[in-house]
Order: sequence, then structure tokens, then C-alpha cells
Amino acid sequence: MKRIAILGSTGSIGIQALEVIDANPGLFEVEVLTANNNAELLIKQSRKYHPNTVIVVDETAFNTVREGLEDLPIKVYFGKESVADIVEMPSIDIVLVAIVGYAGLQPTIKAIESSKIIALANKETLVVAGELIAKKAAENTASIIPVDSEHSAIFQCLQGEAHNPVEKIILTASGGPFRGMTKKELENVTKSDALKHPNWDMGAKITIDSASLMNKGLEVIEAKWLFDLKPEQIEVIVHPQSIIHSMVQFQDSSIKAQMGLPDMKVPIQYAFSYPDRVKNNFKRFNFIDYPQFTFEAPDTDVFRNLNIAYEVLHKGGNQACIMNAANEVVVEAFLRNKIKFLEIPDIIEEVLQKTSFVKNATIDDYISSDKEARRIASELI
Ligand code: NDP
Repeated sequence: MKRIAILGSTGSIGIQALEVIDANPGLFEVEVLTANNNAELLIKQSRKYHPNTVIVVDETAFNTVREGLEDLPIKVYFGKESVADIVEMPSIDIVLVAIVGYAGLQPTIKAIESSKIIALANKETLVVAGELIAKKAAENTASIIPVDSEHSAIFQCLQGEAHNPVEKIILTASGGPFRGMTKKELENVTKSDALKHPNWDMGAKITIDSASLMNKGLEVIEAKWLFDLKPEQIEVIVHPQSIIHSMVQFQDSSIKAQMGLPDMKVPIQYAFSYPDRVKNNFKRFNFIDYPQFTFEAPDTDVFRNLNIAYEVLHKGGNQACIMNAANEVVVEAFLRNKIKFLEIPDIIEEVLQKTSFVKNATIDDYISSDKEARRIASELI
């Protein structure tokens, strides 16, 4: 029985992780659940799964959660420090980091320092501080198992290939809801247009990132640190069917792909059961339903965020951290109808120009760069 802490249990990934646990009652057990402020769902989940500990970040939701669980022997805490501290609990085997955004960084660092197995869904952590995270994970022999479907695909393709150098990886992208559109056509797209992802049902932030291709940019940076690659070894190709989740090309020209229906429960389950594969009843892929797989190059003239991500990766230091902070602020502003879709890359570029560059960034540099970039982005908005 593996005991699992789900950080961000009330989100899209967190809810699907609980479905994976439901499907495997003899293998996985819930030890910790956390949420930001969704007290109602956190109480409901806690009453069903009986975790040891529950944490809600927002202090104003704390009393509601405590009262909602007072008849049960469940410890209830609040605050972001509690979320980071709880991962040290000895009874936890796996920490699933399914928090969205920069807030995933500190708990991931603590989980690495506690040498836990980390099922990492939160991509922003590796974008903000990939170099530091990779170094710490090596020092603490902590395993980071990717949950992001593309990185899970690469991870799966690399099994049994430890001695075979990778020539390149090919990250697939659905292209999002605005694939094929011109700048003119994108001028007046709305938040609800951007939230209609063709293949995946995800949280709001990642769905907007998918529409702007920032999601793929974040994934390029995530892949660099997970698999120790150079930027030029990471290629992005649009595959609108989202059946090939990503590929690895080896030195002999062979390409391995990992495929399946777009269902995040599959990479979540693999991260929990790794190195084993566990039988499940999830829907199977049928080739006859997909007579055509298609591929196209991403349109980086229209969707500039992908190029911005490659640029910050080349430049290094705190650049990706700044890009991430600016992106989190502009996505939030777009979701509040404060800016237009096409202003997203404009503001990110301006924040990158205006925020101080630090080449050899420490954790304190990342924290202060994140703050500075958020302040500048908010001012620009
Ligand atoms: P959601 O927005 O659906 O869920 C986010 C979760 O994090 C919720 O439980 C939320 O709590 C909690 N949360 C939000 N802000 C904070 C905070 N400041 N501190 C602590 N907890 C917080 O996001 P997703 O599930 O879509 O995504 C989670 C992560 O996984 C992201 O980094 C995303 O990029 C990545 N990912 C997601 C995929 C998907 O299919 N959804 C696919 C691949 C990667 P509350 O509900 O109370 O607000």
C-alpha cells in the first residue's frame, strides 16, 4: 500500500488522482489532502477518504474545514507553510504536487529534501527553478516522476534506455482552441473561447496557457530539467489528435512514441505505480476511430510565447522564473477580462526587459525575481 499526499486535491489533477485511488483500493491510500480555499470540496473529499491530515491554505476557510470535519479524527491546518511542512511526514510515500503555479515550488523542495517520491504535475516549479531542483533531487536521491502527459510519455519511452543517448525529444502539442487562427482573428477572442480546449479538460490557468502556447513553452523548459537536455534537443510539433503524447529519437534514428487516449488518469496512475503498470478499466484507444494522425509546425509568429520560452531557456539564470511570474499575472488578468489575448506575449516580453537579470540564481534570487516580475507585470496591466 502506497500512502499518498495530494497537494491540490480539489483541482483537475487532484480530482483525477482520487479517481485513480478509487480504482485501486488495495494499492494506494490517501494520507494528506490540501486545497487553496475550496473548503466545501475539501471537506467532501476528506469525509470520503479519511486522510491523516488536511490543509487549507486560505485562513478564512480554515474554520469551515475544521468544523466540517470535527467529528472525524483528521488533523486540520492552514497556511502555505503547513503545505510545505506536511510533506516531511514519515508516513507519506508519494507526494503528488498538483498545485497550480509558483505555489508548488516550496512544497516540492521540501519533498525533495525529505527524499520522497514526487509525482510532479506542477510544471511551474521546474520552470522557475529547474537547475536548483535537478541539483537538489540528485543530492537527496529523490525520485521525480513526471505526471504531465508529455513528460510521462518521454519518461516511459526512456525506460530500459539508460545507456542510449537521446538525440532529441519531440513534444507534441494539440495546438489548443486557436490553432490555425491569424493574429487578426485572435484580436477579439474571449476568455470563454480560450477555455474551450479541444482535447483536454483541465484547470483554467493551464487551459489559457494551452491556447497561448505558453503551456508548450513551459513544457520545453520542464523537459530540459527533467531529462538533462540542451534546448536544441527539444522539438515541438503540433499533433491535433493528442494521441501521441510525445516521442524520443535515439542516435540510430529510431523514434519511440507513447500513445493513448488523452486521459490524465493514465500518467497519474503510472507515476503512482512506477515501475509497475497496473491493470485498469480506463477507456482503450481504437485505431479505427482515428484513421489519420496529422502533424504541423507550431505557428510561432502568431503564438509568440513558445519562442519566448526558448529564448529564456537559452539565456538561463532567473529568466524563466521572470517569464513564469509574468505569465501567471497576465493569465489571471486575462481571466478577469483586464487584458486582451494578444497582449499576453507583449506584457511578458516587457516584464523580461524590465526585471533585473541574475545569471547564477539562488533560491532567494528566484523568490525576489518572482516578486519583482509580478509587480512590474501588474503595473503594466
Ligand atoms: P487547478 O486549477 O484545477 O487546481 C489547482 C489546485 O491547486 C487546486 O486544488 C487549488 O485549490 C490548489 N491551489 C491553487 N492555488 C494554490 C496556492 N496558492 N497554494 C496551494 N494550493 C493552491 O489546476 P490543474 O489541476 O489543472 O493543474 C495543476 C498543475 O498540474 C498545474 O501546474 C498544471 O500546469 C499541471 N498540469 C495539469 C494538467 C491537467 O490536465 N489539468 C495536465 C498537466 C499538467 P482550490 O481548489 O482550493 O483553489
